[in-house]
Amino acid sequence: MHYLRSTPVRRLWMRTFVALLAAVLMLALAAFLLYHDRTVPGVLGALIFLICFLAAFFTAITHSFTGDCPACGARQKHLGGIHRCDRCLAYGEVVNGEYRELAVDCVHRSPVFAARVNEQCFMPELCSACGSPSTRFQKLRIIRKHFAFDLAVPHCDLHTGGAYLATEHVKRENVWSEIPVVRVASYRFYCEYLKQNKLAGDTSKPPLPA
Ligand SMILES: [Zn+2]
Ligand SMILES: [Zn+2]
Repeated sequence: MHYLRSTPVRRLWMRTFVALLAAVLMLALAAFLLYHDRTVPGVLGALIFLICFLAAFFTAITHSFTGDCPACGARQKHLGGIHRCDRCLAYGEVVNGEYRELAVDCVHRSPVFAARVNEQCFMPELCSACGSPSTRFQKLRIIRKHFAFDLAVPHCDLHTGGAYLATEHVKRENVWSEIPVVRVASYRFYCEYLKQNKLAGDTSKPPLPA
């Protein structure tokens, strides 16, 4: 990965502590089940608690930071790993105590850069896997309760699977709703997609109050 600007991050100790507490609880439940119930349902239940333990432990260690977006300065909570600013939509990564803005030529090993999508959106003429000029399309489909559509996503001759359709949950006027997103591996594709669909956040103004 290549990086541009960076800002320091600070650990949220309360969030770290709560996540660690949840992890210990999950581990205790898994051990309790394994000790008292060696039947198939008992072992399966213990496995589920073990997976929850790993998720809580991972959250406690790597996703419990706060810091300011290096692109627009907006305060971000629950920082960790690859993170999208909730104001300007720029992606950054938390590495060695710093929140680093991704350079546009970054390519992630899997499609992680997510942008809102609909049937009429514009697609950049770039491969969604590597960011090179595209030569063909790959048809993707999403079917959910409230929406269903197909989308042709550009790829180059060398790549397939640079994108997939998924959903995110957003809160509008106190109501959670599910919206479709396209996830891509090329950050150049993501940035260009935001521009062409007028989704890019404004990074020239000072940040909103935290
Ligand atoms: Zn930002
Ligand atoms: Zn490609």
